[in-house]
Parts: sequence; structure tokens; C-alpha cells
Amino acid sequence: MATRRSLSLHSFIQLLLSFSLAECTVIPGKQWCAVSVPAIFQPYTGSGSGICPPAVDDQSADWSPWAHKPYCVTTAPRRAGDQAKKFCAYTNSRHGSRGLSLVTTPEAAADSTVILDEYMPPYDVGEEKPFKVVEVPNKGLGVVATRHISRYEEIMVDYASLAVEITFASLVPAKTGYRVLHLAVDQLADPESILGLGKSNDLAADEIENVLRTNAFHTILGGMPHMALYPVVSRINHACKPNAYTRFIPRTLSVSVGASRDIKPGEEITISYVTVGQTTAERHKALKHWGFECQCDLCTSSEQEIAASDARRREIDDLRGQAAAAYQEGKPYQALRLTRQVLGLIPSEELFPLYSEQYENIARIYWILGDWETGLKYARQSLDVLREQGYLEDVRPEHLEVMVTNFRQSVGTAGRSGKGKGKMAGGGGGGGSSSQKAV
Ligand SMILES: [Zn+2]
Repeated sequence: MATRRSLSLHSFIQLLLSFSLAECTVIPGKQWCAVSVPAIFQPYTGSGSGICPPAVDDQSADWSPWAHKPYCVTTAPRRAGDQAKKFCAYTNSRHGSRGLSLVTTPEAAADSTVILDEYMPPYDVGEEKPFKVVEVPNKGLGVVATRHISRYEEIMVDYASLAVEITFASLVPAKTGYRVLHLAVDQLADPESILGLGKSNDLAADEIENVLRTNAFHTILGGMPHMALYPVVSRINHACKPNAYTRFIPRTLSVSVGASRDIKPGEEITISYVTVGQTTAERHKALKHWGFECQCDLCTSSEQEIAASDARRREIDDLRGQAAAAYQEGKPYQALRLTRQVLGLIPSEELFPLYSEQYENIARIYWILGDWETGLKYARQSLDVLREQGYLEDVRPEHLEVMVTNFRQSVGTAGRSGKGKGKMAGGGGGGGSSSQKAV
């Protein structure tokens, strides 16, 4: 499905939320960790900026904060002009509750040490967990609720146990690569937390490769894409109309799982492995990567129900596109009517990630119509939804100020061009998903 997203405030906040760790920029004499988000949002990222720790590899005399001497391999350049690339296995035994192993470059490992300094609230001690991992009929293991879980309640926080740089598999010869992966897993306190995960990939020649291909989430670490394993989150099965969502927390290399609606005791907790809001054919095509035929409630409902759901999803997508177009063409009342229609259709398909975006769009329209009071009301509502969903810790006056500044710029754009009053958020292309499994 084509996406027509504009960089509105909503997108900015999403960018901020999915923002990865600080990236190192080399400045003569030292490396400076610069936060690569717009300056206006940097105060909210929580990571600030600072001096990057030095890169550590198997030649270093001191390899702290890693528990073992890094084990490194260097790739042979395949073509003239190719740079040799070094990958090492790093393990920190304190991260999260199981420790963390990385298979990555010395530079990405150095960047990622900031996550090791963060306070990590233990997720598996204290209050009784609202879920348990059990055998689920026809699905192997799954996660079910042990009590009522309210909408937007945080169900769990799970820390990555293993993260592997995405080019590692293609650049390192298989046999060497498997040796490094096994060392990285063996150095963890509980290797079984990785080795015991589901393995459903027929192409994998090694069990850790199979586990990665079956369970890994796409994660940014040190500015580079990585495949990461979150052992408990990996037990959550897929559903096309899931009752939970995942949110990546780069600061601690963890994933938070929240309830997208009320969940009954005994009900299975599900997330979507693909972008939510797609039609049946689109979802099944995307799910092929996991090699299973979806047997979720939506996919096993009657033909009429599946057709009705597909029609609603197409309509939501069309309406979002039409609303964005009407807004661009200087027809705010039409854009408002279409956006309200989208808002009305969201509950039928439980596409809760779309709420904040619609409220922001309505706020923007009222703002350019000169009704600032109503505009502010909807702007607050948009931010409140992000707070409820766990994306913002709280709603502060400066968040609202950022939003209003963005609206003012939209009005300014309208004055210059005569039409096209800035851009609305979204504008079609599926419901969006906060975190997707890696493919
Ligand atoms: Zn399904």
C-alpha cells in the first residue's frame, strides 16, 4: 500500500519516539555523540548528547563495560574498493534481567553503551505479572492475560537479550558467523532464553539463525539497523486485529507492550507482526515471511465478515487520502468532515494508532479557520492520546507550543502560496505500527 505521509508534528513525535541512540560524529580529537533529531525536540529525547565512549575490540587492553574480551572477526573485501568490516561479540551481564549480547561493529557497540547506564526497572519482580506464557491450541506457546487488563495499560517491558547488526549475516562466512552467534548466546546467563524460542524458518542452517529469522524485531542501535531478540515479547502470537501493541524504547533497548483495548482474564494477548490496518490479501502477503497461515479471529471469521472488514479498511485509507487532498486544496470544511468520518470508523477496525493523528488534523484545521480555542482543545486531545498510549510520559506546555508553532507555520505557508495550507498528518497508507518484527 502506498504511503503518503507528511512530516507533521505527529510524524515528528513518532520520529522522536522511534529515535534511536545517539550517533557518533567524528570531530578532530574526539567523538561527539550528537542526537540526530531536530533541535526543538532534543530536550524530550532523554538522552541529550555527550562524548561517545571509545570503540572497544579484541585489541583493547580494557574492554569495560563488557563482561568478556570481545571476540572479533574481520570480513574480507569482496570487490576492489570494499572496506573490511569488523564485527565483535560483546556481552554485558547486567543489562535488563538476563544480560545483553551484541554482535556488531566496535563503533555501534561504543554508541550503545549509553543504554547500559540507564536505570532499568525490573519487569519480572515485584507486582504479579498480568500475563503468563502457556500452550495455546494450534499455536504452540503464547501469552494470555491472568487478570483484566485495561486499555492502554502497560502489560510488560522486555529487554533485548541479543542484537545482531543487519549486514553481519551477508558479510561474514556462514561457519564463522554461526561461531560468533553461539559465543554471544553462550556468554548470556541463560542461553536457553534464546535457544528455546520458536524456530519456523526452513532456510536457516543454524538454530540461532533460525531463532533470529523467526523472532527478531527490527531495531536501531548506534544508528545502524540490527535484529534484536526480546525473549518474552517473542512469545506473543500475531493477530490481524490485535489487542496489544509494541513500543520500542531505544533508551533501554527494550520493548513495551500495551493493551490497545480492554483484555479479559484468560484471553490471549496478541500483537501485529505487520503494519496494522491492511486488507486480508496485503496482510497475508506480508505474513509469508514468517511461514505461517494466519488463523487469527479475523482471518477465520466468515467470508462476509472478512469482506466487510476489508471494505472498512479500504474506506479508512481512502478517506485519509481524500482528507489530506481536500486540506491541500484549501477546502478545510471538507477536510474536517472527512477526518471526522475517519475518526468514526477507527473503532470498527480497532485502529487505535490513528486516533492521535486525527485529533491533530482536526486541531490544525480549526487553527487555520481561526478558531484557536477549539484547535487547542483537539491539540491537547491528540497529545493526551499519545500520553495514554505511553508514547509521551506527560503532556507539557512545551509539547503544545511545538504543535501550535507547527500550525502557525502551516498558516504562513497558506499565505504565501494562496492554497495548500501546510500538510496534514498521515493521509492514508495503513494504520501504522509502532514496532514491527524484522523480516
Ligand atoms: Zn489474521
